[in-house]
Amino acid sequence: MAAEEDDQLQQVRSKATELFIREEWNASIEAYSHFITLCTQTLSHSHPNQKLRRSLCIALCNRAEARSKLKDFHCALQDCDHALELDATHSKSLLCKGKILLCLNRYASALECFRTAMLDGNAESVSGYLERCKSLELLSKTGCLDLSDWVSNGFRGKVPELAEHIGAVEIRRSEISGRGLFATKNIDAGSLILVTKAIAMERSIIMGGVQDLSEDAQLAMWKNFIDKVFEFVGKCPRTRGLINRLSCGENEDQLEVPDVGLFRPETVEKDGEVEVVVDMVKLVGILDVNSLTEDAVSANVLRRGNDCYGVGLWLLPSLINHSCCPNARRLHVGDYLVVHASKDLKAGEEVTFAYFDPLCGLSKRKEMSVNWGIHCKCKRCRFEGEVFSKQEIREIEIGLERGMDVGGVVFKLEEQLKRLKVRGKEKGYLRASFWEAYSQAYRSERAMKRWGRRIPTAEAVVDSITDVVGGDHRLLKLLMEELKKNSGGVVERDKVFKIAKQVFGKVVKKQAMKTLLQLCIGD
Ligand SMILES: [Zn+2]
Repeated sequence: MAAEEDDQLQQVRSKATELFIREEWNASIEAYSHFITLCTQTLSHSHPNQKLRRSLCIALCNRAEARSKLKDFHCALQDCDHALELDATHSKSLLCKGKILLCLNRYASALECFRTAMLDGNAESVSGYLERCKSLELLSKTGCLDLSDWVSNGFRGKVPELAEHIGAVEIRRSEISGRGLFATKNIDAGSLILVTKAIAMERSIIMGGVQDLSEDAQLAMWKNFIDKVFEFVGKCPRTRGLINRLSCGENEDQLEVPDVGLFRPETVEKDGEVEVVVDMVKLVGILDVNSLTEDAVSANVLRRGNDCYGVGLWLLPSLINHSCCPNARRLHVGDYLVVHASKDLKAGEEVTFAYFDPLCGLSKRKEMSVNWGIHCKCKRCRFEGEVFSKQEIREIEIGLERGMDVGGVVFKLEEQLKRLKVRGKEKGYLRASFWEAYSQAYRSERAMKRWGRRIPTAEAVVDSITDVVGGDHRLLKLLMEELKKNSGGVVERDKVFKIAKQVFGKVVKKQAMKTLLQLCIGD
């Protein structure tokens, strides 16, 4: 190699290294790219040069790190692989690749990298990652999630690290709409169904509720969110392929039914398939239909003081359809979405969320479903469609709207339920629809004095409503208040824990559940 050429290479390399150390990622990527091109050219027409090969390997590794800082994981992985082709045991490249794979929740592949790096005697720098990776891989396989310590500590400290997990579910064509997620085994209430990391999330700090966020602020947030997803999708072909499979709300019934396995982080779709293009217009359409917000009715956000509001895209959970008798709820933990059963699910049953409040009447639900662009045809909606056309029930609804005494509303409704011989789940449907009246009546001393002995107990009503809509924190709260009033026994306490499990999922340690219950009461 000519001395001149060597000089130029050295200069380009020093510049790249300097930018890298200064953490100017974009500029350092550019400089390294220059160096890598020059290096590759020189190597192609000169004698084997070990020193230069070594420099190239380090440059690729550093560019990989810079790229991964900018979340360009796809290209960063290619750089790592290229560096490892030059030197299969280059520990920095192995470590860098492992860390990227860990970020992508590809635990088994990451583990392989860390193990190989370990063989080369880098125990100190690698062992921490190796251990973390092992426990995440186990978590991902078993779904044995335990947030107890974090919860008991009042959510102080860092949000616990979760792993993606897909439980006993598959994707099938749904009678509700398009495609849906279905249980492949019986799933007990409180059991974990899915844990998914967001493709991207955008959060805003708010003081009161979402309603306090100005329209401009909401728009700005939505725009930032779209930009974030667009940027990430541009960089990651795998995500692009998966997002492309989501619905944009049109021709739902003609959409292909993908295998649930495609959504496992370790699944990388075969190269050579047609390159998918997701342009901005298409992406906005997809995000419009599939994004989820943290403040949804079937969601819990575990955080101190709910002063944040977030919107995000989680791929697999976005396939879960709506029902007014939902059987699943979700928990937001950092960027992760944890979906658990809020009722017992039978094998073959579709997993459903409530997109909007199931504790209100048919007309209100119809109003809300318009905003979601859905037309709910669930059993409850069909049944209530008939019942609410009856004059007597309509009169009660109108009475409630006009401020009629809530105890009287409950009494009249219960009388009608008897007269119309409404039983079992159907009774639960209507009680859920008139929840507002029930919840106010049981809390009003005056109403209870007058109607208390003529209406069913709060406990019985909570029972029949949870039977149809699953666990809900408002039902749980009422039950706990009743328990306090009547200093209930073991049976009642067990019931509280049972509903708490439906609302929050299984929490292993009792102390953690107590913390959650206190939060619920304080709400
Ligand atoms: Zn419905």
